[in-house]
Amino acid sequence: MVNMNKFIVICIDGWDYEYINYHKMEFISLKKRSFTKPVKSMMPSVTNVNNLSIISGVYPSKHGICSNYHYSKNLNQGTYLEDNKYVMSETIFNICNKKNLTSILATSKNKLKTLLINNNFNNNLSYSTENPSTFLIKKFGEAPSIYTIKANSWTISTASMLIYEKSPDFSYISLTDYPMHKFKPESTHSLEHLKLIDESICELINKNPDYQIFITADHGMSDKTKLVNIENELSKYNIHSAAIPIIKDKHEIHHSNLGGSIYLYLNDLSNLFESKKILKSVDGIEDVLNKSEACQKFNLNSNRIGDLMILGQKDVVFGNSDISLIPNDLRSHASTYETKIPLIGINTTKNPDYFIENKSIGNYIIDSI
Ligand SMILES: [Zn+2]
Repeated sequence: MVNMNKFIVICIDGWDYEYINYHKMEFISLKKRSFTKPVKSMMPSVTNVNNLSIISGVYPSKHGICSNYHYSKNLNQGTYLEDNKYVMSETIFNICNKKNLTSILATSKNKLKTLLINNNFNNNLSYSTENPSTFLIKKFGEAPSIYTIKANSWTISTASMLIYEKSPDFSYISLTDYPMHKFKPESTHSLEHLKLIDESICELINKNPDYQIFITADHGMSDKTKLVNIENELSKYNIHSAAIPIIKDKHEIHHSNLGGSIYLYLNDLSNLFESKKILKSVDGIEDVLNKSEACQKFNLNSNRIGDLMILGQKDVVFGNSDISLIPNDLRSHASTYETKIPLIGINTTKNPDYFIENKSIGNYIIDSI
């Protein structure tokens, strides 16, 4: 009998339909499957923004995480958004804490552990595969490097065993997109990676049959072949600016901080209208939005984004002016072309029509616990 108040959510970082097309995931065809459907991710289609919306059920305008990295023009300095203090809304973890419910957070990347959870939460067990505690190593042995295809299945398998032992009310398992950045869906390494996560998810479902389980992604992934340098495009007209990659994080090995959308901060705001006009005519740029347009279109928070938000065509990435060459075989995200993602609901009786975005999962769980 499924306990309708107990939930497991798995976020497969960078997973989209192209990966499903090349590797038929067994867990999707398990008998207990309730539904599979495409849903939308948040924009910008980057990790931190979407993980927060999944566990809070609200748009970035409310939770405040509108990028992986935040730049303050006044202070002329940036911060990696890797700390729970930057989160402005309640999350399922906060609510569990208040209601004395138990929870588990298992992440591949350590930055997600520190962003999604606050150390003061009671009845919570959280860990990352990137930086495992001695308790974890003692129990499960050495964790694989997060720059291997084994890291994600280790995160799922260890969480599965802990869920089985501790029977928490809510568990969130969030992976890393290193394999999606590095390997095309049809490549041998990618197929091996998908097989490993598929096996560990099947094991988790079979070992923990009493839970409602949702499996989704934070964003997809595309081949990127063209680099546009925003700062250089504007400096030709003597307009000076700072282009801050939305995707920027400490895992540069994944994406070289090159993503399909970027925030631009102008040194002189009187150049706003002209900058927008110039950039709209640059090859590879799909749209240029000022702050209020971006906030309205994508439900962003005006205090946490640039003066302009620039959106690329599918094969385009933006970076800082210090990057002049695009790496070979770059795969990345952050544009509108990486927002179509799968959602699989298992053991749930909720009408699939309810789920239209990845954040719908958070809405549903918050209403149910
Ligand atoms: Zn991601």
